[in-house]
Amino acid sequence: MLKINNLHASVEDKAILRGINLEVKAGEVHAIMGPNGSGKSTLASVIAGKEEYEMTDGEILLENENINEMAPEERAHKGIFLSFQYPIEIPGVSVTNFMKTAINETRKAKGLPDMPANEMLKMIREKSEMLEIDRKFLSRSLNEGFSGGEKKRNEIFQMAMLEPKLAILDETDSGLDIDALRIVANGVNKLRSKDNAVIVITHYQRLLDHIVPDFVHVLFEGRIVKSGGKELAHELEEKGYDWIKEEVNA
Ligand code: ADP
Ligand code: MG
Ligand code: MG
Repeated sequence: MLKINNLHASVEDKAILRGINLEVKAGEVHAIMGPNGSGKSTLASVIAGKEEYEMTDGEILLENENINEMAPEERAHKGIFLSFQYPIEIPGVSVTNFMKTAINETRKAKGLPDMPANEMLKMIREKSEMLEIDRKFLSRSLNEGFSGGEKKRNEIFQMAMLEPKLAILDETDSGLDIDALRIVANGVNKLRSKDNAVIVITHYQRLLDHIVPDFVHVLFEGRIVKSGGKELAHELEEKGYDWIKEEVNA
């Protein structure tokens, strides 16, 4: 699904990612953890193709295709989804209408006609029921006055509707409350399948009590310095990151 070889990237000429290697296969959930400032969000942004980040070396392959030069929209159309990609508030545009537009844009990029209205409605109904999202929420203006939990609900709904091949959820350190955590965890668990892959970026172990990852990687100073199974997350919870730093510096 995703293969990253020797990825180096910088922001404003400052090297942030310094040789990332990562392989994510279909059906897998990978967690990326690491101390604040280690480059987790930068990695997510570079995979999604955000323009303020410059790749200085290496390659990113999506289903064996090099996507180094692709624009963010093109990557999205190819099936890469990054949470918080659309944090904008759009008064007067509902959650549903925004989603319809996004889906039809994706289809257009693939040379497909708009999704017939009845099919779209059916999909919205199925996905919102699966995620226990009520109708009132779907008619709210996008992101306008959304609580933390509602933002998460919107994100997970977008993910469900767009059916990405690779979903990257960057759970920033801004504290997921219990409600938001439950929404994200339930959503990801319902949406994970043998055909897609998920990368969950988190500073905290507790999300991984609910989304059990197949692999855990620790990012430190722009490199993956340790990888393991779900037990690695527990070890980090117990011992913090200092022992990793010591190992790296030894
Ligand atoms: P993490 O998500 O692991 O906390 P980030 O990827 O956000 O780490 O940040 C890694 C480093 O890159 C930090 O030193 C941060 O200040 C810097 N950085 C990230 N994004 C930008 C940006 N848009 N402009 C300037 N510096 C940035
Ligand atoms: Mg940070
Ligand atoms: Mg971050």
